[in-house]
Amino acid sequence: MPHGSREGGWLPDLVYTGDKFEAGLAFFADSTGRITRFSREPADLATARRLAGQAALPGLVNAHSHALGRLARGETETGRLNPALPPAAILAKLGAEDVFDTARLVFLEMMMSGVTCVGEFHALHHGAESAGAEKDFGREVVRAAHEVGIRIALLRVAILREQPPSKAALPPGVLSASAEQFTRETEALRLAIERDFPADEAWLGVAPDSLATVPPEAFKVIGNYARAQRLRLHTHVASSAEDVAAGVAEHGRTPLALLAELGLVDKRFTAVDARHLTDDEIRSLGTARAAICLTPGLPAAVTALSTAGAGVAAGTDSHAPASPLVVARTAGFEDATAAWRSATVAGARSLGATGGALEVGRPADFFTVSLSDPALAGVEPPALPAVLLATLDRRMIRDVWVGARQRIAAGRHLAQGQITGRFIGLQDRLRGRTPQPAATLDAAS
Ligand SMILES: [Zn+2]
Repeated sequence: MPHGSREGGWLPDLVYTGDKFEAGLAFFADSTGRITRFSREPADLATARRLAGQAALPGLVNAHSHALGRLARGETETGRLNPALPPAAILAKLGAEDVFDTARLVFLEMMMSGVTCVGEFHALHHGAESAGAEKDFGREVVRAAHEVGIRIALLRVAILREQPPSKAALPPGVLSASAEQFTRETEALRLAIERDFPADEAWLGVAPDSLATVPPEAFKVIGNYARAQRLRLHTHVASSAEDVAAGVAEHGRTPLALLAELGLVDKRFTAVDARHLTDDEIRSLGTARAAICLTPGLPAAVTALSTAGAGVAAGTDSHAPASPLVVARTAGFEDATAAWRSATVAGARSLGATGGALEVGRPADFFTVSLSDPALAGVEPPALPAVLLATLDRRMIRDVWVGARQRIAAGRHLAQGQITGRFIGLQDRLRGRTPQPAATLDAAS
């Protein structure tokens, strides 16, 4: 939308709204970036910005990301490492700028994949010593999202004890001494983010990592804090059969049953992974209007969860792949539109975000694909949701808009060369090599 005008509009060949593609339909947003109306009036079609040969779709919502896991790319893809965090030896070397550079690269790749909103599960809060909210590394992650232009729910991770058997000691910036310390630091960061960023662009949620690393009493303290501040609460639950068995052995009930008993399962709760749920657990998630978040790998009970009334969001976890749609693709949904809803509006609901669908009142967060792409050429509009679900790839994505503001044009982000150059320099340094001059990288990218 041009600056200074009250309203801006777009007219792609096709727009995905109400679970289907419509032709001859323009949509408009006001100066705050919210969609105000759809129109088929000739005068409106004539004034809207024409996106010829393109289809517009709601921006994807990645409900579960571990950006720092990107530092171990190559290790996670080959299955040698846990994807959530790089090795402690790398984490211990990271400063605020390094966290910023890594998150910025991850959010760039995500946005080029059509993602306009992310839930970032951030666990490294500071370096060797804590220095308060202004130096909290979570702030760097939010700043990185702001620079790229992606909306972010910063899900601040609590880890109070190491998960046995632990391979290496976690650095001090990951472990919290107590639930009280964690909530105190979280509240300071929440206020700093609220002060410095628009409320629908960056907001805070809490994420006790799992019952294995946060004991029930501490979980309850953090949950009470989240409820008092109306924050989203995300946690890894039932990630594997062993997880469930360990929970039963320690607490005499499954992890999710224990969390429900503690009063933590409500409409602001998301169970991440949630691969091993009983029928009772699925029912209780549905009754509570809670959500689960799919992660790459095994399918979950997506149809039973949706039928019960639970949200089913999707997240990339370690960024192999970078798109939640790719995660939803293999999750076992019965039809393509359900998978699309998982990667868009269900993610928005899980994160408490405003986007996720092209509808009046929601922000104009969308991406476009070229309909002349070899994968899409000649496909009829009713078949497009299924074809795009099966084939959508970063290289098919042309433009990305967030809050009616263009961030990616013809597949490129304005700051792409600088962002990738900085990250390559960081990886060189972590690997003990002499970084190449950034100017060379910029020219080559
Ligand atoms: Zn995770």
